[in-house]
Amino acid sequence: MWHSLRLRLLLISIIVVLIATGVTAFVASRRTTGEFERYVEQRVPVDGRRLAYLIGRVYTVNGGWESVQSEVEQISANRGDRIIVVNGNGIVVADSDKAAIGKPPDRRWPPPVAGLFGADGPLGELYVFPKRGPNDPDRAFLSAVNRSVLFGALIAGLAAVAFTLATSSRILKPVERLTDAARRMERGDLSVQVDIDSEDEIGQLAHAFNSMAGSLAQQETLRRNLVSDVAHELRTPLTNLRGYLEASRDGLIIPDAALVNNLYEETMLLQRLVLDLQDLAQVDAGQLTLLSTPTDLGGLLEQAATMFQVQAQEKGVTVVADAPGDLPVVTVDPERIAQVLRNLVSNAIAHTPAGGAVTLSAHADAHEVTVAVSDTGEGISPEHLPHVFDRFYRVDPSRTRQTGGAGLGLAIVRQLVLAHGGSVAVESKPGEGSVFTFTLPVDAPA
Ligand code: ADP
Repeated sequence: MWHSLRLRLLLISIIVVLIATGVTAFVASRRTTGEFERYVEQRVPVDGRRLAYLIGRVYTVNGGWESVQSEVEQISANRGDRIIVVNGNGIVVADSDKAAIGKPPDRRWPPPVAGLFGADGPLGELYVFPKRGPNDPDRAFLSAVNRSVLFGALIAGLAAVAFTLATSSRILKPVERLTDAARRMERGDLSVQVDIDSEDEIGQLAHAFNSMAGSLAQQETLRRNLVSDVAHELRTPLTNLRGYLEASRDGLIIPDAALVNNLYEETMLLQRLVLDLQDLAQVDAGQLTLLSTPTDLGGLLEQAATMFQVQAQEKGVTVVADAPGDLPVVTVDPERIAQVLRNLVSNAIAHTPAGGAVTLSAHADAHEVTVAVSDTGEGISPEHLPHVFDRFYRVDPSRTRQTGGAGLGLAIVRQLVLAHGGSVAVESKPGEGSVFTFTLPVDAPA
């Protein structure tokens, strides 16, 4: 399995090893060579004085240069250096390579390593040239050092390849699992989650992937529920309409004013449902345009209370607005906030028995205005309280027909308030009443 990422990791480690060992080999080799040459150069003069003494003695014992040539050749054969002897007249009298015999010393030669002395004083000079041939033991030592550095580099390279191959699986395994999960998701399995608990970048990627998959699954569930809820809500009024219309067409019932009114109510229900859905869809799609303008909230509260007077009186419920006169100005869409208030007040009246009261109030701090719609009605039990703002959530579905709601009113309230940068909340005690509150941000002082 030569995934390209694996190949790249391998190439990177090989390149790193090559650079590292190459630089080490280069530096080590240069350094060893330098040190070695210095050592060899230092060794020659010390050695040279001993050699000069030896050759001086050979000259003295034999009384001439004749035997010096064979002595020089022998010494040279032993140690590998070229040895040249120059007499007092400046003529080469012995050369281990024989080439320079009878000639004066070459100008390019380095200075002599020592003077030659016999029993009667100076005899001449001694030259020693360290051998640079392939058999030179110094050279051999250097190339042995270089060879071992190269060998080390080779071992390091092989170790790096083996190590990369062994560890790359560990690194790439989570990536493969993520890819696999993404493919499953592509095929429609939104429940997929990857089990990677490392803290590194891949762990973070897996974490992000899991939360993305989670929220996609949640969205999908919401979408499915929405479609089935909408279908469910449409079914009852449509079945009623169809039943009455069929019965009238077949002459089973004579349509009178009461029946027409009933049919009219059903179409009103349908229309309200469609309008509510339209509002929610607009907010969801981010298409809700807020026509925001500096607004007097106290005025809106008064308007809402007045609007419901007749309906409330019929039920024997009082509706009052009780807002302080010095509420700060808020920049909101007055139509949308009026819609929020209408939904809350109509709910409050619907759930408050005769003799009860609905109160609209407001207070402000430096950052926000809080509006409250409280009632002295039936209240909401704690298990329902966290869900009342959910779509299609109804505390008592069997009462839908009486209140006329599809469980969308509070969902719309929440979306509209959120769109204004505020928040919603509810508190309630069953049997005592409920308080629905929402906040709106106060304009920053200019
Ligand atoms: P609907 O349009 O069906 O009234 P809502 O979203 O407005 O739906 O409300 C959701 C549920 O919350 C309703 O089923 C209702 O029982 C409950 N509810 C809302 N307001 C009140 C209130 N003031 N007092 C008691 N129950 C309420």
